[in-house]
Amino acid sequence: MEDNACLPLGPAAWQPVRFPMPTLKFAVLAGDYIGPEVMTEALRVLEHVAQQENLTLSYTKADVGGAGIDNHGKALPDSTLKLCEQSDAILFGSVGGPKWEKLPPKEQPERAALLPLRKHFTLFANIRPGLLYRELTDASPLKTERIPDGIDIVCIRELTGGVYFGLPKTTTTLADGDVQSIDTMVYKKSEIERILQVAITTARARKKKLCSVDKANVLETSVLWRKTVTEYCAKHAPDLALSHMYVDNAAMQLARDPNQFDVFVTENMFGDILSDEMAVICGSLGMLSSASLGAGKNSLGLPFGLYEPAGGTAPDIAGKGIANPCAQILSVALMLRFSFGLDAIAKRIETAVRSAVTGGTRTGDIAFGKPSVGTRAMADAIIANL
Ligand code: NAD
Repeated sequence: MEDNACLPLGPAAWQPVRFPMPTLKFAVLAGDYIGPEVMTEALRVLEHVAQQENLTLSYTKADVGGAGIDNHGKALPDSTLKLCEQSDAILFGSVGGPKWEKLPPKEQPERAALLPLRKHFTLFANIRPGLLYRELTDASPLKTERIPDGIDIVCIRELTGGVYFGLPKTTTTLADGDVQSIDTMVYKKSEIERILQVAITTARARKKKLCSVDKANVLETSVLWRKTVTEYCAKHAPDLALSHMYVDNAAMQLARDPNQFDVFVTENMFGDILSDEMAVICGSLGMLSSASLGAGKNSLGLPFGLYEPAGGTAPDIAGKGIANPCAQILSVALMLRFSFGLDAIAKRIETAVRSAVTGGTRTGDIAFGKPSVGTRAMADAIIANL
């Protein structure tokens, strides 16, 4: 694995550093349980970097998820949505937990906050790096001999189409008394081309290898997906090595030999499942970040995006000061890269996280019997490496 394995999207994939440095105007939605704990540390790291790099930060915190329900009566309060609309990016923690589990499904924090945010800002491209450092291969349930150098792949998931949003979506009682539910899977060619552009940019910045995952042997939407990907890449990205794989095979291949992929692109539901499998083989959820990019541009002319850790609110460890803040800190790096064009500074953060962890400072989820540190000390070690 190359030295730059901590740079999941490779160098110069997006906008280079711009002068003068922009003001970083973003909304901070920490959410519930460990959300605020790891967010505090991520902001501390960012404040430190901002001071070193002469960046001006202008961020505002707002309630979301369970905190939104408790303080404003709904998971995505109007004031929070307005703040996001006035920002150039959203730094998100995670939402939900036992306190709100008895609410009707439509009012649950995740469904009533995250899905509307994705829809409202047309956050159609979910970029999820699957990165496991060589030094942390013990964290993976895969045998070390299968991943001697760790894992370094990227999942690009379409996030606003497919069966999660397609209509009709109904449950009805039939004439014979049976009950029937319908979900509808819909994709337009333009939606496929849009996510493909993100996948192509990402693949070009890495090994120029792109795998498109579908179920074209069964689903109409997948037939269109495969045809569109084949034609679009032939015309616009002949420099990439393009392959296609059925989703059931992709699930198996990820567990067998994950590094055979470099970048893979897929539709919403397949991406949901495969990206979670990817998170498992990469060890702790506490290490994995993600970016969801919007169709719209922010005031800097760069993609508006929502940046969040791959994991949830971890109620089992909340309040103990032991959550791993790395995923949230790496989400800050993704925000700097995509929404603020600060690739070099993003790399500095990614390198500092890697150095701190491989240097031996580890939270409990990645310690494997060795001495572990708490959330704050982990962030301190990252700051020391900046
Ligand atoms: P989870 O990701 O919160 O936790 C799964 C396991 O991973 C737990 O053992 C937890 O301790 C561990 N873990 C997760 N993040 C960690 C970190 N930073 N450091 C150390 N360990 C960490 O998943 P869950 O338990 O299924 O869900 C808990 C709640 O989070 C649920 O209400 C769920 O709906 C919500 N959730 C929210 C999001 C989101 O906001 N995007 C995503 C997933 C789950």
